[in-house]
Amino acid sequence: MALLQISEPGQSPDPHQRRVALGIDLGTTHSLVAVVRSGVAECLPDSEGRVLLPSAVRYAPDGSITVGWDALAWRIDDPHNTVVSAKRLMGRSAADVDASALPYVLEPREGIVALRTAHGAKTPIDVAADILRALRQRAADALGEDVVGAVITVPAYFDDAQRQATKDAARLAGLSVLRLINEPTAAAVAYGLDQGAEGVYAVFDLGGGTFDVSVLRLSRGVFEVIATGGDTALGGDDFDARLADLLARRAGLVGLDVRARAALLAAARRAKEALSSAPQVEVALDLGDGRRVDARVTRDEFAACSAELTARTVALLDSVLRDAAMPADAIAGIVLVGGSTRMPVVRQAVRTYFGRAPLTDLDPDQVVAIGAARQAHALAGNAGDDPLLLDVIPLSLGLETMGGLVERVIARNTTIPTARAQDFTTFKDGQTAIAIHVVQGERELVSACRSLARFELRGIPPMPAGAARVRVTFQVDADGLLEVSAQELGSGAHAQVAVKPSYGLSDDAIADMLRAGHAEADADARQRALREEQVEAERLLDATRGAMHADADLLDDPARDRIHAAMAAIAAAMRGDDHLAIRAATAALAQATEGFAAQRMNRSIRQALAGRSVDSVADQIAPNPRESKD
Ligand code: ADP
Ligand code: MG
Repeated sequence: MALLQISEPGQSPDPHQRRVALGIDLGTTHSLVAVVRSGVAECLPDSEGRVLLPSAVRYAPDGSITVGWDALAWRIDDPHNTVVSAKRLMGRSAADVDASALPYVLEPREGIVALRTAHGAKTPIDVAADILRALRQRAADALGEDVVGAVITVPAYFDDAQRQATKDAARLAGLSVLRLINEPTAAAVAYGLDQGAEGVYAVFDLGGGTFDVSVLRLSRGVFEVIATGGDTALGGDDFDARLADLLARRAGLVGLDVRARAALLAAARRAKEALSSAPQVEVALDLGDGRRVDARVTRDEFAACSAELTARTVALLDSVLRDAAMPADAIAGIVLVGGSTRMPVVRQAVRTYFGRAPLTDLDPDQVVAIGAARQAHALAGNAGDDPLLLDVIPLSLGLETMGGLVERVIARNTTIPTARAQDFTTFKDGQTAIAIHVVQGERELVSACRSLARFELRGIPPMPAGAARVRVTFQVDADGLLEVSAQELGSGAHAQVAVKPSYGLSDDAIADMLRAGHAEADADARQRALREEQVEAERLLDATRGAMHADADLLDDPARDRIHAAMAAIAAAMRGDDHLAIRAATAALAQATEGFAAQRMNRSIRQALAGRSVDSVADQIAPNPRESKD
């Protein structure tokens, strides 16, 4: 399958020429670009041989934009114009962001959050686009040609808004996104786990400021994310801070200003990184104000001062595996991702937890980009008959139905792209519009799910309740983006919505939604049963009232009293929360109205025989059959 058209229209490409597509790890701290050349995936270095590009962009007052190391150097001196960690804000609305916790000036506005810089308002999408542009340029320089197709990685917990924001950034940077894939999936692909190895894998990703654990199941070439978790405020930066505190204590430093603290943190970071390959390091730092740090730190001392952080990663790992109901020995392999997994203490902790060694052959900084490059290579049509890797949607997608219940249309872990249609109907006689509310989540009640979009289908011809056939189609593209359309099949009335970035959910919130889906399954099932009986009872009450109004003359007094009594009994049952009582009362009313329904049917048929169309009459008298539920 060739998704990339590299040759000019009308000219066929040389069959021996391979198509080039990029793999991009758009990280919180660092970003990388990789490509498959001569069958080998490799990260492309800058002109100084560095493969990591700090995810930092400076919008300088002189009008220039710098990305990467040069931008990062301005972090202390020009914080408002130097944006770092923009990924944390992707797909978020201004209302979701705690401005006081950020070193930026936020633009007061609704919708997507934006930072005020010397170049005007910059959204996280703009910042990501500048990073992507720099990577695209790096690739053009290294390859001698401009490559515009890319696979870009995103965290597994990214929701629709965050994925859409990432795609928008790519579009701004002139990149055509072959696919967004989940970071842990890319890491697994880098290790070739997609090549036939079936089983459940754990991906342990400790980066600069975030920690993510994902549990992936691989079967028949499809990775599904069965659990994710972690901490968005735990990463290498915290280890730097612990070591900086140790150094400050040793040197008797107190009351450091912002600049001195930054210098100390940078020294601590260098020392921390050196300790990954040396048993001890010497730290010599001149703070410029006559104060100095001269210290020797051993690996054991560093391990001791950061032990609490390492323990937290293990506790989180354990809780994610519990969520996934996967004991450590059921895991087929452990993949280490992120620069911070170079720390021997972290590796040792993971090894101890699983009782065996994690996969570490690949550079943990590069593993995500390498997997993305391999996937890009396959998507660009170079895979031969390699199966294409598929992804799955992380949370179920559905619609709100009567009673505040969720009708699941696409179940979580369905492989994408996918499309599913389901038919719905009207609840009230003469209803000409239907409100469509798209929700995401694992719970039975709308109130416990995430609202994604609302729209209305109008122009339904007036019909009795239950006669309209409204087909709602959910379509999820290969990047996990959703489009929902609704059509009334008789009249062709049509409406649709694409789920666009609105606001974000934190990864914790998604993990919570998954957890709550399991934890609340019983309570939800009871609630659903109750609401379903309430809706059914309401529907029968409505229909009965309508029928009595239309054909009251068919009833004698005792029959009318029986029906009224049955209606009162339903009303009483509905004040309680016993769904079986409501069901029994509903059945009693249905029985009490049986004779009446037959009389009405006879009358209708007589009217029909008197010259009216049977069809239109049949609609008017159609009982509201209980829809079969499976
Ligand atoms: P992100 O995914 O957040 O962009 P990275 O995977 O690039 O982050 O990880 C960056 C972190 O890795 C930094 O905290 C950095 O100090 C740490 N790191 C990089 N190399 C080493 C090393 N040799 N030893 C310990 N930590 C390292
Ligand atoms: Mg990363």
